[in-house]
Amino acid sequence: MNARSLIAAALILAGSAGARAANIPTPSGFLGMTVGADRTIADYRQVLAYFKALDAASPRVELEILGKTTLGEDLFLAAISSEKNIANKKRLQDVARRIADPRGLGVAEADTLVREGKLFLFITCNIHSTEIGASQMAMEWAHALATAEDAETKRRLDEVVLLLLPSINPDGQIMETEWYRKNLGTRFEGGRMPWLYHHYVGHDNNRDWFMLTQKETQAVTRAVYHEWFPQVWLDEHQMGSSGPRIFVPPYAEPVDPDIHPLVFRDVNLIGANMAFRLEQAKKSGVIYGYVYDAYWPGGTRNTAWWKNISGLLTEVASVRFATPVRIERNELSGGGKGLVEYGAQTNFPNPWPGGTWRLRDIMDYERIVSDAILETCAERRADLLRNALARARDAIATFDANAAFRIPAAQRDAAGAARLASLLAEHGVELRAAANGDAYVPLAQPYGRFVNELLTAQRYPETKLVPGKEIVRPYDVSAWTLPLMMGVGVERTTLPAGLSAWRVAAPSLATGGATFALAPGSPETARLVNAGLRGGQARIARATTSAGGREWPAGTVFLDGAAAKAAAGKAVPGQAWTAVSAFPDATEPLRAPRVGVYKPWAASMDEGWTRFVLEQYGFEPKTLDNKAVRAGSLHASYDAIVLPDVTKEVIATGKPRRDEGAMRYFSELPAEYAGGLEKEGAAALKDFVEKGGTLVALSSSAEYVIDELALPVRNALARGSDFAITGSLLRAEVTAGHPVTYGLPGEVAVFQDEALAFDTALPGAEIERRVLASYPAAAADVLLSGWMRSPELIARKAAAVALSSGKGKVVLLGFRPQHRAQTPGTFPFLFGALYWSTSN
Ligand SMILES: [Zn+2]
Repeated sequence: MNARSLIAAALILAGSAGARAANIPTPSGFLGMTVGADRTIADYRQVLAYFKALDAASPRVELEILGKTTLGEDLFLAAISSEKNIANKKRLQDVARRIADPRGLGVAEADTLVREGKLFLFITCNIHSTEIGASQMAMEWAHALATAEDAETKRRLDEVVLLLLPSINPDGQIMETEWYRKNLGTRFEGGRMPWLYHHYVGHDNNRDWFMLTQKETQAVTRAVYHEWFPQVWLDEHQMGSSGPRIFVPPYAEPVDPDIHPLVFRDVNLIGANMAFRLEQAKKSGVIYGYVYDAYWPGGTRNTAWWKNISGLLTEVASVRFATPVRIERNELSGGGKGLVEYGAQTNFPNPWPGGTWRLRDIMDYERIVSDAILETCAERRADLLRNALARARDAIATFDANAAFRIPAAQRDAAGAARLASLLAEHGVELRAAANGDAYVPLAQPYGRFVNELLTAQRYPETKLVPGKEIVRPYDVSAWTLPLMMGVGVERTTLPAGLSAWRVAAPSLATGGATFALAPGSPETARLVNAGLRGGQARIARATTSAGGREWPAGTVFLDGAAAKAAAGKAVPGQAWTAVSAFPDATEPLRAPRVGVYKPWAASMDEGWTRFVLEQYGFEPKTLDNKAVRAGSLHASYDAIVLPDVTKEVIATGKPRRDEGAMRYFSELPAEYAGGLEKEGAAALKDFVEKGGTLVALSSSAEYVIDELALPVRNALARGSDFAITGSLLRAEVTAGHPVTYGLPGEVAVFQDEALAFDTALPGAEIERRVLASYPAAAADVLLSGWMRSPELIARKAAAVALSSGKGKVVLLGFRPQHRAQTPGTFPFLFGALYWSTSN
């Protein structure tokens, strides 16, 4: 029986509005399952099918496909509003755009727009795929809104256009649902999946919102900052199982003082109504001012704060995916900022007493906060629109009319400079161009605060909750200074006259030669080199070389005509090559490295990011799981093996270190995913290096390699020392002339989030070791952006070390060279290590 066609037939027959409402299928009726029941989940394709049926049946619902996901699903949003607003969508979008950018708008005209405009409420669900409740709740809520005939709901839909995304990671929603269904009824029911729930980035899909590297982020960014311009954004998440039942704003400390205060006044007003409605409905365990801060711009709605949008977060306690959990009273815990001990306090007046918690509870709490935000947005529509307008006006007035940043076109990494300009444009930032190609970013524009935040250094506000030494620690990283991360020179200046509209420039690739020289210095060069190596011949200069009447530095790659032809299509804006007559004599053949990336079954995000970055730059990495490493004979198939940032315990055994006193239980994975490299894997890696392979260790994995290969290196920052850091940018001095550092400037900003730096010792004659980069001698010079404690402990220590013995090589990069694909300025360390693997 095809339920869908029956329902479609019924819909066609339906006549009056009342009959139509009665015939709009419920999610459970349409899908033939009890949505929200224990152990029952509609997967994303079912959710999409349901929303398509709603779109077909209801004039209040209109679907918009935002683009394809990484694995090819349709990412959609449902616009839900009154029939009249839906029909008037284009005009309402124009009004929202003018409110978001009120330049040239008179007072009277602005008043008219506020009267005419509707509040655009953007709600994103289920970015984290195990946080599944909201993807199910969204169907029930949409059905209720599409069918309601009561005056209050109709009034809300007259005032507000709801833009609802039931899942902004469809691929992961499908993966997790499949994994859950497969393990139902087994001892792994509701357990974690041994791989990432986003093909590349897993949980970090909510850390991508300023660099915009993933398709889903890009599609949502287009919808928000180029099409809809919502004034309010709610992102619905889930948290751990044994604390409060739901977090609603206000946020915890600290708050970024550069965000307009009206953002937080809107957020707090809405959050208070959420808590109010939850309590009225006898839902206990509601907390605010807990864990989640208002400082870091990496998450969905967070980035929006600097773009004048009132972004809210909710976090509901989790179950085991869709399987109920029972929390004993003694297991209830605080422990986070805002709730140290579990018990009643001002921000948490009615603690949940413990008991059974199920998917239906999650959906009920989410439904109440969703209705509550819709209520406040309808109730205060004009106020909230006026606030959005005021934030945009104030942002424009924050800076001098002529204040600007200049991104010079001619610089060491011109391609990086062009990429930075394009990224800002993708964010909806307005740029202008000078005749010489320099990009100018005026600060007196609606997103001026965002520009200033991303182009200048961070100084973390050391907020204290009580007198004493301890500060409130950052929630995630504490630095996002794009020029430092990208290795691009940017200067604060004033806008010159005579600028024109900015647009993406074409690459400038010389033609007409037999050979083409690519100077090192930009990570973007790797795209051309790798594509070229698949189409023709390339050679690399190991020392300064002359060709075509000029000197080329060590690391310059020369492509023959066939290689250049294969590479040309990969060139990006700002990239250039120069024609020379022939390969210079003093060059060596360059071969494409065969790269393996180690993948533990711990769903390592850094593994995913490493794979993503290497694929983006044309390295075609192969994945090596525990079994593949343990099988040995790695040298036959790989030149280089990269160990991503994974702790030595997880690499060795598959299990994290069990900290003293920690109560966290490590749940087992099915047998085929259990364990780590074990003894055989360690022996296979050692054999690989002895036979001439190159082992590249990123951040924490360096400790594994140091131990297993007994290298004359140690971590200089002992655990338990006073050193502390959260994702910050540190100054490192680079050793020139080594194959790993070709093209890098004398000083780079490295991204560091670990207590890790190296001491080396003089080895025996069989080992050659070079320090590739080190921290400055003066402690005061170490920190460039972010937050750290006790910089004197890392001063003068090595940041990166290369060791070789015979043909075998080891490269230890003691920082995050490709962190979340946000640090192109240090990609060359990783790429250089991979090319080094093919040299003799
Ligand atoms: Zn989450």
